[in-house]
Amino acid sequence: MPRYTVTPSDLAAHHFTVRLELPAPGPDGLTLSLPVWIPGSYLVREFARNILSIAAADDAGPVSLRRVDKATWWAPPGTGTLVVTTLVYAWDLSVRAAHLDDTHGYFNGTSLFLRAQGHEGAPHEVRLLPPPSPAGAAWQVATTLPRVSGGPLEFGAFAAADYDELIDHPVEMGTFRHFAFTAEGVAHEVALTGVLRSGLDEARLAADMAAICAAQLRFFGAPAPMPRYLFQVMVVGEGYGGLEHRASTSLLCSRQSLPCVGDDPASEDYANLLGLVSHEYFHTWNVKRIKPAAFTPYDLTRENHTTLLWFFEGVTSYYDDLFVLRAGVWSAARYLRRLAEAFTGVWRTPGRLRQTVADASFDAWTKYYRQDENAPNAQISYYTKGSLIGLALDLTLRRESGGSLSLDAVMAHLWAENGQTGVGVAEDGIEVAVAALLGRPLTAFFDAAVRGTGDLDFASLLADFGVEWVQRPADGVADKGGKAPGVSVERLRARGWLGAKVTAGGGGARLASVLEGSPAHAAGLSAGDVVIAADGLRVEGAELIARLGALPPGQAVELVAFRRDELRRATVVLGAPPEDTIELRLDPEPSPAARARREAWLGA
Ligand code: ZN
Repeated sequence: MPRYTVTPSDLAAHHFTVRLELPAPGPDGLTLSLPVWIPGSYLVREFARNILSIAAADDAGPVSLRRVDKATWWAPPGTGTLVVTTLVYAWDLSVRAAHLDDTHGYFNGTSLFLRAQGHEGAPHEVRLLPPPSPAGAAWQVATTLPRVSGGPLEFGAFAAADYDELIDHPVEMGTFRHFAFTAEGVAHEVALTGVLRSGLDEARLAADMAAICAAQLRFFGAPAPMPRYLFQVMVVGEGYGGLEHRASTSLLCSRQSLPCVGDDPASEDYANLLGLVSHEYFHTWNVKRIKPAAFTPYDLTRENHTTLLWFFEGVTSYYDDLFVLRAGVWSAARYLRRLAEAFTGVWRTPGRLRQTVADASFDAWTKYYRQDENAPNAQISYYTKGSLIGLALDLTLRRESGGSLSLDAVMAHLWAENGQTGVGVAEDGIEVAVAALLGRPLTAFFDAAVRGTGDLDFASLLADFGVEWVQRPADGVADKGGKAPGVSVERLRARGWLGAKVTAGGGGARLASVLEGSPAHAAGLSAGDVVIAADGLRVEGAELIARLGALPPGQAVELVAFRRDELRRATVVLGAPPEDTIELRLDPEPSPAARARREAWLGA
């Protein structure tokens, strides 16, 4: 049985010392390797690059390890217990790796635990030790690793049934703020790490989180797949993200997004946090247990390709906000505003007309997780477009079945057939499940939505559910959609359009990206160019967009820009602004059929 001991050995240098003991490595020696990626985040991250040193010994003395590849070592056959000690550098403040300083320690097992090949299926044991005093005296531990010794939140010994489980319970240690709530009889804990604003509204946060968790637990049905659940939350100035695990999630959020007593109840930062909580919690079922066959088991040595991330991330994204609504935390109007923002994000990405979500899923490793300045032209997010496909599939099933089916039935089917059995979902498994429920295949739908790049007709689909679709140009750079503009649509249409995303920097307006087919493209401008003057006057940052917006479409403008250190001039003929901003409104007088469908869908 592999036994690990983790010591936060040097807080200032960000070092964990990890000791692995294996009593009987076997007659052929032992191969040890560290994963190159962490499940849930589809990028090869090369965690072994943070191993600063590695040494081995057995009962007969030092053992010399042979390098096999970038992440693998081999120990020759020896005598008695093999002990391998690694020093690991932990200074990545994200949910995907490891971080250690004098305020806290956090790690995923994929960053620390060498895999003893051939022993993956055996039980694994971990001893967590506190850092050297004085810090160690005050530190506690929050993890869902099953405990063997020590009381709640104490350092001690833990056990996992196998290596796969070992690396699926990240560990937080430090002086975090801790609170608990119960949802549908399941104990939930929250550990908040980082400096918080004073006056945290813990009661509100706990009540809203409990309502969201309870709604999802009821949806998938008892018994819950996990005995307990933990939210590990890292609170920073600016940041947003999460990673799902079988009984916990690690979240990164901004200080501003945690509610304080007296805060605006309609805070968008807090709404984003609740959406994230709901998203990661839904993954407890969808991707942690209902999994692509390509992930059963995970191959931790290389990329694992699937065309289904549009379902596992996209449909999870569809349900995340929907469950905040179903939990009674948001109104239907608020939900529709956020849905309209998702539409706007997709409609502003011309890459949707080039890349299918099946391809976006497959190429997540080299495209979505490695976006460059051309990403808007080249790619579509399997999260946002995937969430819209989830919506389209939900509404289509409701309409086609006369209300007897919905996406909920597909989730229930997958939970029974795949989640509870551990059978991976085949690449065509979603379509097969839909066809089985509906009694006929929806091939044309999947061809268009998943394997095609055209826009689906959401306006007429939503009209059948008593929701009006409004499309118009953006009202400035801060307009994310979902709300009425500050001026008339006629005035928005009279604003000249450049077709580039602009940031401040380099002493002018830096073009972060240039949309294909836009006036900026036609004028020969490129991402990275720094525009310093328009029609002879200096310009900086987003002011460029406002200045050009004051001119009508068709107007020619002289721009002066630097590309690297070379000055160039371009004449831009401004275009008409694209109708890329979406609003969704509850139809005040829907037909009785549309009203009934809307009530079944939104409860409103
Ligand atoms: Zn996700």
